[in-house]
Amino acid sequence: MAGYIAEPGADRYCHVFGGAGWTVVAPTGASPGPTLVLTLDLGDPRLGFGRSSEVLPLCAHLDGSNLDRQHYSFDPVLKRIAFDGPAWHADTEPDYYLPNPLPQHPLRLRPLREAEDPRVTDKYDVQDTFLGDVGFLRVGGEPLWLQHAEEVACTSCGTEQAPVACVGYENESHPSGLVSSSEPFFLGEFALYFFACFGCNRVSVLSQST
Ligand SMILES: [Zn+2]
Repeated sequence: MAGYIAEPGADRYCHVFGGAGWTVVAPTGASPGPTLVLTLDLGDPRLGFGRSSEVLPLCAHLDGSNLDRQHYSFDPVLKRIAFDGPAWHADTEPDYYLPNPLPQHPLRLRPLREAEDPRVTDKYDVQDTFLGDVGFLRVGGEPLWLQHAEEVACTSCGTEQAPVACVGYENESHPSGLVSSSEPFFLGEFALYFFACFGCNRVSVLSQST
């Protein structure tokens, strides 16, 4: 499956950027607190996750100094996310942090354009649409790795987790307005990769830098 680009706009399904719709619990002393980035509507058959209901919250601590794997559990009934320890401490300048929570916006999914599809376009050219351009929210499909491919075993049941979304960053001078009309979504020169186990309601977050 090729995947989709999420962009600002209304969709038949309820995919959301940002917001504060979930209670997020982090280990005591962890800094910065995790930020809810995306909430995906699992009822959307385009995603092919084989779920007819419920939502998947994609959340991460957005400090570019720490590229370790992150893991959390979520409870779709209580709308609660609980991050695994140990606590993390970023030494990133506070000026570089995005607002937390991020402003909430509806998202619509659109098919990949030719330039965004690694099946027909050179991977490094596709990366240019993902890092510093409008295609920075990639949902479904295979991960667009910046380096080598990685596999993720669920830390609860041990089965391989499914890739669900990749998050790059947008062009500094042409922000989409998701964060604000003047501030782009920018975490540093790296991308986040979200993987999920739907049996355990567990998510892993990986990072790769250029
Ligand atoms: Zn599992």
